[in-house]
Amino acid sequence: MIEAGEKARLLEGHLDRRPFARIPFGDFGEGLSRYPFMLVLPQDVHERFLEKELKRAGVLVERNCELLDFEQRNDSILARLGTTKRRKETASFEYLCGCDGAHSSVREKCGISFPRRHLRAGVFRCRRCGHRADSG
Ligand SMILES: Cc1cc2nc3c(=O)[nH]c(=O)nc-3n(C[C@H](O)[C@H](O)[C@H](O)COP(=O)(O)OP(=O)(O)OC[C@H]3O[C@@H](n4cnc5c(N)ncnc54)[C@H](O)[C@@H]3O)c2cc1C
Repeated sequence: MIEAGEKARLLEGHLDRRPFARIPFGDFGEGLSRYPFMLVLPQDVHERFLEKELKRAGVLVERNCELLDFEQRNDSILARLGTTKRRKETASFEYLCGCDGAHSSVREKCGISFPRRHLRAGVFRCRRCGHRADSG
C-alpha cells in the first residue's frame, strides 16, 4: 500500500486562493512509528486494497445493493435491500453496521443526532507529490 502512495513532506493550506498555512511534515513520526510519514493514497487504489483484504477474510462486497429499510427483531436485524431498480429482497443479519456516510439513514432511523456546522471551503496542496484535494 505504501508503494502505491506518495509520501507527503509539505502541506500548504489555501483559503480564498491565498496561502494561510505551511506545514512541513518531514519524518514527523520518526521514533514513534514504523511509518513515520504522511501517505497520500488515491481513494480508488485504497478501495481496491481494502476490498482485496476483505475478500481474503471471507467478506464479499456487494455493489449496487441499497439498504432500503430495516427493523430490529429480538435477536437479529431484518433488512430490506434493493439490489437492482426492480429487484428487492429481505434478509436477516446478526449485526447492522451504519457506515453510510454523513446523511446516514441508519443513524437517522436509530435516532442518533449529528450536530453540524458550516465550514468554509479551503484547498490543501501537497508539494512533494503534486496532488490537490479540497479539504473535507
Ligand atoms: C469534496 C470532499 C473532499 C474530501 N476530501 C477529503 C480529504 O482530502 N481527506 C480526508 O481525509 N477526507 C476528505 N473528505 C471527507 C471524507 O470523504 C469523509 O470523511 C469520508 O468519506 C467518510 O467516510 P464514510 O465511510 O463515513 O462515508 P462515505 O465515504 O460517504 O461512504 C458512505 C457510503 O455508504 C453508501 N450508502 C449511503 N446510503 C446507503 C444505503 N442506504 N444503502 C447502501 N449504501 C449506502 C454511499 O453510497 C457511500 O458509498 C472529503 C469529503 C468531501 C465531500
